[in-house]
Amino acid sequence: MSSHAALPADAATGVPKVRFDRITKCFGKGAEAVQALEPVTLDIAEGAFTCLLGPSGCGKSTLLNILAGFERPTAGEVFMDGQPVQGPDPRRGVVFQQGALFTWMNVRDNVAFGPLATGKSQAEAGRIADRFLEMVGLAGFARRYPYELSGGMQQRVGIARALANDPEILLMDEPFAALDAQTRELLQEEIKRIWHETRKTVLWITHSIDEALFLATDIAVMSARPGRIKATFRPEFARSSDPSVVTSPEFARMKAQIFGLLREEALAAQRQEAA
Ligand code: ADP
Ligand code: MG
Repeated sequence: MSSHAALPADAATGVPKVRFDRITKCFGKGAEAVQALEPVTLDIAEGAFTCLLGPSGCGKSTLLNILAGFERPTAGEVFMDGQPVQGPDPRRGVVFQQGALFTWMNVRDNVAFGPLATGKSQAEAGRIADRFLEMVGLAGFARRYPYELSGGMQQRVGIARALANDPEILLMDEPFAALDAQTRELLQEEIKRIWHETRKTVLWITHSIDEALFLATDIAVMSARPGRIKATFRPEFARSSDPSVVTSPEFARMKAQIFGLLREEALAAQRQEAA
C-alpha cells in the first residue's frame, strides 16, 4: 500500500497517459452545494488497468465523467498525454452500465456505428464490427437485436462497440453492476483476456474488491464524500490469466486490507447520510 496518490508515469516519456491534477468538484451553489471531490491527484500509466473503489456517492462517477469530458472540474485539470481534456473525444471510449445500445439496430450495426460515423466505408466498418464481435465471443449473434440478448451479452456488445472506435482509453463505470454473479465472473475473465490482447489503458469503477483485485494493475481506494484518494495498491494478479489467482494467500491478504479501508469509509458515508 502507498499513501502517495500518484501512480507511475510512462517510463519512456515521463508523461503519464492520464493525470488528474488537483481535481475538485462542487455541484450546486450556496446552501445546496455538494462538495463531491476534494483535490484528487492521480496518475494513470499507459496500458494500466486502474480500478476506483469507494463508497457510494464518493465521487467515482464524477471523476470518470471529468476524464470522459462530460463534466468540467470546479478546480484543477485532467490531462491526457499532457493535453488538458476539454470535452468528449473518441480517443476515450465509454462503456455504460446498461441500456446504451441502439435498440433499432442489430448487434453488428451497433458495433459498426462508430467506425461508420468516423468515415469508414460500409465494408470496412463491417469488418471492424466482425473482428470485435469475435473478440467478445458474439460472432454468432451479429444479426440479432439487443432485446434478443441477455444482460451479459448486451454488455459484451457495449464493450465491442467501444473497442470498435479504437480508443486509447476505455472508461467503464460499474459495467457489470447489473449482472448476476456467475455471468460477472465469466465476463471478468473475458475482460482480462481482451485487455491482455489489446493493451488498452482502462479506468474501471467497481464496488467489488474481488473484481478490482482480479483485473487491476492499480487500485485507488477513495474516501467518503468529498472523495479523495485514500490509498493506492498495485496488485499483481492482473498479469496472470489463471482464474485461480483469487484463491492465493496474497489475494486474501490484500482483500482484507482493502476491505478494512472501505469499511471505514462506508461507515463515514453512512454517518453523513444520517446527519
Ligand atoms: P459515486 O459514483 O461514487 O457513487 P457520484 O460521482 O455519482 O458518486 O456522486 C458524488 C456526489 O455528487 C454524490 O453526493 C452525488 O449526489 C453528487 N452529484 C453527482 N452528480 C451530481 C449532479 N449532476 N448534480 C448534483 N449533485 C451531483
Ligand atoms: Mg457512480
